[in-house]
Amino acid sequence: MREHNCDFFVIGAGSGGVRAARMAAQRGARVVVAEAAALGGTCVNVGCIPKKLYSLAAHFADDFRDAAGFGWQVDGTRFDWNALRANRSREITRLNTVYEKLLVSAGARIVTGWACLVDAHTVQVQTDERQERFTAAHILLATGGRPAVPQFPGCEHVLTSDGMFDLEPFPSRLVVVGGGYIACEFASIFNGLGSQVTQLYRGDQVLRGFDADVRRFVAQEMRKRGVDLRTHTDVAAIEKTSEGLVLTLADGGHLQADAVLYATGRVPNVAGLGLHAAGVTQGKDGAILVDKDYQTSVPSIHALGDVTARLQLTPVALGEAMALVDKLFGQGKKMMGYDFIPTAVFTHPNVGTVGYSEAQARRQFGSVSVFRSEFKPLRHTLSGSSERTLMKLVVDDASDKVVGLHMVGADAGEIVQGFAVAMKAGATKAVFDSTIGIHPTAAEEFVTMREAVPK
Ligand code: FAD
Ligand code: NDP
Repeated sequence: MREHNCDFFVIGAGSGGVRAARMAAQRGARVVVAEAAALGGTCVNVGCIPKKLYSLAAHFADDFRDAAGFGWQVDGTRFDWNALRANRSREITRLNTVYEKLLVSAGARIVTGWACLVDAHTVQVQTDERQERFTAAHILLATGGRPAVPQFPGCEHVLTSDGMFDLEPFPSRLVVVGGGYIACEFASIFNGLGSQVTQLYRGDQVLRGFDADVRRFVAQEMRKRGVDLRTHTDVAAIEKTSEGLVLTLADGGHLQADAVLYATGRVPNVAGLGLHAAGVTQGKDGAILVDKDYQTSVPSIHALGDVTARLQLTPVALGEAMALVDKLFGQGKKMMGYDFIPTAVFTHPNVGTVGYSEAQARRQFGSVSVFRSEFKPLRHTLSGSSERTLMKLVVDDASDKVVGLHMVGADAGEIVQGFAVAMKAGATKAVFDSTIGIHPTAAEEFVTMREAVPK
């Protein structure tokens, strides 16, 4: 490896890039990591972390409302958008510094600038002052993704999730277009913070790919909280007027808004990366194609995380990074497992899910049993809120294994994370039934469901 000036050159210091650079440096590799923007990538700067902080902020609206039923008089609550933005910004800056320290203390060198491939072993970084070239035994492409907005008349007036965190002024009327993770989460957040939110989705139900009961239930709960969720609705054009933005819908209807968020998916960040020059093969939307060891069509170049457009989740990018570093600089024994990856959608209430939806399980296993419970959580017996919780198990009849576990309700992500361990270990319904619940919790419902839904 000595003929190159580094062993491992990482392009992109987001979730996957930072983890790979840090782990490789800790194993003694000479590592350089190039980042064009802020350290930490999407998750830290404009993704998971600021989103979750804003979601927590929005939950206080529920807490204040629910408090009266428990005897609390909460008078004169007022939301200060500027204070939330400033506090979030301070925390993200702190995290940027933490990431820098983690990399530097592991021994990696950070280069700030835009990196592109020159050939299979050479990377050029354009910094503010100059261009610098590096040769590396191994190169990792961890450049993530960016929001994709369709072209239509007036599309220049819309925002993407990147622009929502510092939006000025706070939007009294917000239109959200899309029905995926980001659309549902931001509709919930801004609804909770006090915007009048209209969510437009082109299909018949939000969260395509999730269990049908989960989709129906979360849509119903979001509507109960005041999100004006309209399905089978497309935007034809947007015009900027003195009254704000005017949306013309495909059916001829009109809507007015102060801001329009397009959350219509993300595409791999590959522009200007020099993939063609190096001979790296790409797939749909420019996604970098890799084999099971994250190797691209060029053996010295690897790619992982969102730029490969598979599962766009931070823990997946982290897991892939650790498997890759183990292969390149360790014992090569770690494999990233893609079955039973849990996920949460931070809607209000949250969605937590792991494993197969009922429909997927029927296709995969044939005969399955379904256990489902919908109930009013204990908190809302006094709060006066009409929020309900859904919990659902899908069991493969042949093996008795629980192959799908789904929840819509408070803290669903926290609850499902624990059950994901059991399912990864192959827990059967009999094991769930023999587990003693923690009373009184919502989570105990997962170990007390006995009556299958009639087939
Ligand atoms: P990124 O984190 O995107 O990092 C890529 C980095 O590469 C960026 O910093 C970019 O500036 C840099 N870069 C790109 N090109 C170059 C170049 N040529 N030269 C130098 N640098 C370059 N996932 C979850 O698991 N949970 C969540 O709650 C969650 N919430 C999300 C909320 C939002 C609004 C969004 C947008 C995403 C969310 N995600 C969430 C997804 C998660 O953020 C991504 O899956 C994750 O960040 C992917 O990591 P990555 O390393 O592949 O890419
Ligand atoms: P998603 O792929 O989840 O959803 C995109 C949505 O936009 C879908 O409802 C899709 O409809 C719709 N859509 C696509 N194209 C158009 C169009 N031209 N016009 C109208 N609607 C359109 O993408 P997101 O942007 O929400 O999020 C990107 C990814 O980031 C997620 O898939 C997830 O992996 C990750 N993420 C994870 C989070 C978490 O873990 N909590 C939170 C946020 C993001 P249709 O269903 O019909 O295709």
